[in-house]
Amino acid sequence: MAIKLLCFDLDDTLWPCLPTIMHAENTLYAWMRQHVPAITQRYSITELRALRKQFLQAHPDLQTNLSEARRASLRDLSRRFALDNDWVEPAFEVFYQARQVVTLFDDVPPALDSLQSRFRMASISNGNADIELTGVARWFEFHVSAEQVGQAKPHPAMFDALLRQAGVDASQAVMVGDHPEHDIAGASQAGMRTVWVNRQRLDAPQCPADVEIIDFSYLPDALRQLEAKA
Ligand SMILES: [Mg+2]
Repeated sequence: MAIKLLCFDLDDTLWPCLPTIMHAENTLYAWMRQHVPAITQRYSITELRALRKQFLQAHPDLQTNLSEARRASLRDLSRRFALDNDWVEPAFEVFYQARQVVTLFDDVPPALDSLQSRFRMASISNGNADIELTGVARWFEFHVSAEQVGQAKPHPAMFDALLRQAGVDASQAVMVGDHPEHDIAGASQAGMRTVWVNRQRLDAPQCPADVEIIDFSYLPDALRQLEAKA
């Protein structure tokens, strides 16, 4: 079956996510030191991270909107310190802009450049990376986010939204992502074919990927394999 649409996860598929988030949290913390010193004098960045984690565990409904989750955890801090909330939106904006500063894996740009002439391409993410601000929009026709859909991968609503927007059948689409469950199991259940980008060389025998690769230099070959299979 010919492939019409390639769908790419963003975080940890096109760039490493952890350094991006660490940079954004450090930038936010430096900003807070200036603007809400009462908080940074009381809590280290590590303690704030732990508080945020606790807060999110208590509010699982925020999992599908990580921007709102970030704002809500800042408002929670505000409440603990009996502060006004007027610093929250500027603080979020500092975090959000810093979160868009990504360093693509070296193998990603050449692969996407070459695939762009052969396939339609879109991106799909549970996170709050912006394809314009991260500089990857030139490769993608559109982006689907958990925030728009109101559900997060591996929920089928995410893949339905993607396929509907592209106007292609699941059998004509291939999902490329790093996460065995969110990307691979989710897309596979939606009827898509899947390429698991296993950069960490994880052992995941349960991962239902059609093809597994260790970086994007193998992606063109993986797609040829998939097209030949069916
Ligand atoms: Mg990912």
